[in-house]
Amino acid sequence: MPDAVTCPICTMPDPLIAEDGFECATCGHTWVEEHEDTPPEIRDANGTLLVAGDDVVVVKDLKLNGKSGGVKIGTKVKSIRIVPGDHPIEGKVDGRTILILADKVKKA
Ligand SMILES: [Zn+2]
Repeated sequence: MPDAVTCPICTMPDPLIAEDGFECATCGHTWVEEHEDTPPEIRDANGTLLVAGDDVVVVKDLKLNGKSGGVKIGTKVKSIRIVPGDHPIEGKVDGRTILILADKVKKA
């Protein structure tokens, strides 16, 4: 946890710790914590370490929030990115950018 975190809007120090970032107690602004160190280790359904640029295959049908359809098991997702949060894998499927839980894929 970095010290001297300040609100990017009102510059007040000592923000509240929110679910995946910070919340300013003064103006209510919320923002995502910036990770200056290396990204978290993300492991697939088999425990294989995943890194940005990997290709993965979906091993469980995915339902997409607020969108019709989903992603079928066996779908290949090319050149993933690793992002902060509880759905750490970002990739494109049929032109849509989606976020996936790490245990729903395996390395291709
Ligand atoms: Zn603020």
